[in-house]
Amino acid sequence: MNAGPWLPVPPHGYGGIENVVATLVPELRRLGVEVVLASVGDSTLEVDERVSAFGTGQFAALQRPYNQVCGIVPAHLHAVLRRLSERDDIDLVHDHVEAAGLGILAAVAAGGPPGLHTLHWDLAKHPDLYGSFDGGGRVWVNGVSASQLDRAPAALRAHAVGHVHLATPLADGADRRPAPDKGGHVVVLGRINPGKGQDLAARLAHTAGFDLILAGPVGPYHRPEDLAAAGTDPAAAQNPDVRFWREQVAPHVDGDRVRWIGTVTGRDRDDLVATARAALFPLRWEEPGGTAVVESLALGTPVVGLARGCLPELISDGRTGLLTTQEDDLAELVHKAGTITPAECRAEAARRFTPAVMARNYLELYERVCRPG
Ligand code: UDP
Repeated sequence: MNAGPWLPVPPHGYGGIENVVATLVPELRRLGVEVVLASVGDSTLEVDERVSAFGTGQFAALQRPYNQVCGIVPAHLHAVLRRLSERDDIDLVHDHVEAAGLGILAAVAAGGPPGLHTLHWDLAKHPDLYGSFDGGGRVWVNGVSASQLDRAPAALRAHAVGHVHLATPLADGADRRPAPDKGGHVVVLGRINPGKGQDLAARLAHTAGFDLILAGPVGPYHRPEDLAAAGTDPAAAQNPDVRFWREQVAPHVDGDRVRWIGTVTGRDRDDLVATARAALFPLRWEEPGGTAVVESLALGTPVVGLARGCLPELISDGRTGLLTTQEDDLAELVHKAGTITPAECRAEAARRFTPAVMARNYLELYERVCRPG
């Protein structure tokens, strides 16, 4: 299980891929799979064996110039390949390392175990790699939604063995947990980023008259005070998410009708979402996987959003959320969110988005990759 060199598993705070690995591995082990985790030295996830090139997560290094960072993934993959060459009892590599993991697996495929590479991201990225990919019958990919794979370049799609929706531990027993009372607020949970549409959400809150809480980081800044302290720092000024925040979102954030509370984690995040009237996804991109979407359902919060990317697959319109293709309709849907029953959202999460469901789906894909045809 190659989680890469960026963050420990589980991550201490934000960490999409590392959270997926931390959710998947315990369930796979319960199903009898032995797992060698390739990660960083301070990963605490219980596994059968570990391999790492770095003692700690290298994420912060991504702020440095390319020529100071470009050795990190190769160093990690070098350690992984060395371990693979030392043993002949690894049945399959499940890889999560963006772009480089796929290329390296394909390069060593003939002499190594077969591989499954999970595409966690927008497949418009890396057109040179995805447009010409050849896995040689040994390396296959999976998406995190059907709509994501539908938009993939043909060469990549030809190597897809299917998709597995993201899961959340919050879905376990979601239908049995006591539900908190709803507050008056609407929440947008996610990185502050043009694709996630917080600018649209903030403008809507003012025009349609609802209280909005934005939770999530702006680039590398997890707390409002950290971003304020960055001031005119050129690195901050050049960060596209910081620019988006400063130019498009912040002018609408008045600390009253619209608030930004930075990144919230753990219990605080769960309480914030569970007490929200609705989780709003005013998407401007084709959301590939949508962890925050399934978390909202698991916490009994209806999803209101634009019907883009994976949203129509994850949300049953009118039952677990309200979707539209028109930005202009969003305000009305926010006001109608109370027509969706929180218990229905929780039940759906408990049925479709538990770690056990995800692990069973991955096991099926592993079997297809190991026994092609
Ligand atoms: N998240 C969080 N705190 C925040 C904002 C987001 O813990 O303040 C988490 C959220 O709960 C989800 C993840 O960050 O687990 C975002 O994953 P998603 O797939 O929704 O979006 P991505 O960032 O991968 O595009």
